[in-house]
Amino acid sequence: MKLIFFLFFSPFVFSCNSTQKAIGPKKTNVDYANTITAQDLKKHLYIYAGDEMEGRMTGTKGQHSAAEYIRDFYKSEGIASPPGTNDHFQNIPASFFQGRRDSQPSENVVAFIKGSEKPDEIVIISAHLDHIGTDKEGNVFNGADDDGSGTVSILEIAQAFQQAVKDGHPPKRSILFLHVTGEEIGLYGSRYYTENPLFPLANTVCDLNIDMIGRIDPDKKDNPNYLYLIGSNKLSQELQDVSTAMNNKYTKLDLDYKYDDPSDPNRFYYRSDHYNFAKNNVPIIFYFNGVHEDYHKMTDTPDKIEYDLMAKRAQLIFYTAWEIANREKKITADKL
Ligand SMILES: [Zn+2]
Repeated sequence: MKLIFFLFFSPFVFSCNSTQKAIGPKKTNVDYANTITAQDLKKHLYIYAGDEMEGRMTGTKGQHSAAEYIRDFYKSEGIASPPGTNDHFQNIPASFFQGRRDSQPSENVVAFIKGSEKPDEIVIISAHLDHIGTDKEGNVFNGADDDGSGTVSILEIAQAFQQAVKDGHPPKRSILFLHVTGEEIGLYGSRYYTENPLFPLANTVCDLNIDMIGRIDPDKKDNPNYLYLIGSNKLSQELQDVSTAMNNKYTKLDLDYKYDDPSDPNRFYYRSDHYNFAKNNVPIIFYFNGVHEDYHKMTDTPDKIEYDLMAKRAQLIFYTAWEIANREKKITADKL
């Protein structure tokens, strides 16, 4: 009896299932954000901030290996190299680093997802790929937080957007994933990009710059569910409002704006790559965990990273980029 029953109904069951499969449950930004996991971030960071990368000093073999790791990831994900670049590299001649002792050529690494409705409007997500190298004995500065954390977060964010593309939900605006070189020696890669932009800066909606999001500031030990946001309303109140709304709705981090105080002596607003965009009137947000005891020390290693927290912070950046890329109205620099 059972078998006959099954046979009788099976064509109906089959057709139902296949219809469901063809349409599929509609995935949302939450589904894509959830592909950004602590486990994946950790897997990338143990390689990216491993000793083989020799501290990623600009122009060295280790830095080029780091750039290749990023490029290979984008190729494996099928994320395009933007027009005007050579196989995901924006090459920078040694002459651009003049004034540096022993200056060598280097490269920014770029990847591009074209917008479906407003492809000329570009949302940039950036992080620096370089660090400070080795000491004279060859001991490695791994730079797991600085800025391995920002680098691998972008890889995971890009993968989430690319999954959406594969599912037929491309962003309306274009997204440029920008890994800049030469940050530690003076914000060279981001300056090179803004002086030689792949897309006009006038059409660049914003730069979401990530530099150190994997650790906890000693001052925040009692409330580790936080992130410092710097410069988020300096050029565009709308940008900060979007960021706040996404955090309230999804990630619920304690967003701390204390470094926006113009009298703060750290002057962090001027100290990472977003500044080269801000000075060209492109609205920015700088995402930052603050300094800690291992900052620019050999002890900034992957085992000290808070991976669950880092995943949540990366998800906030993903949600913010998703909203900026997909909302009807382009955010404007309303404070110029
Ligand atoms: Zn850094």
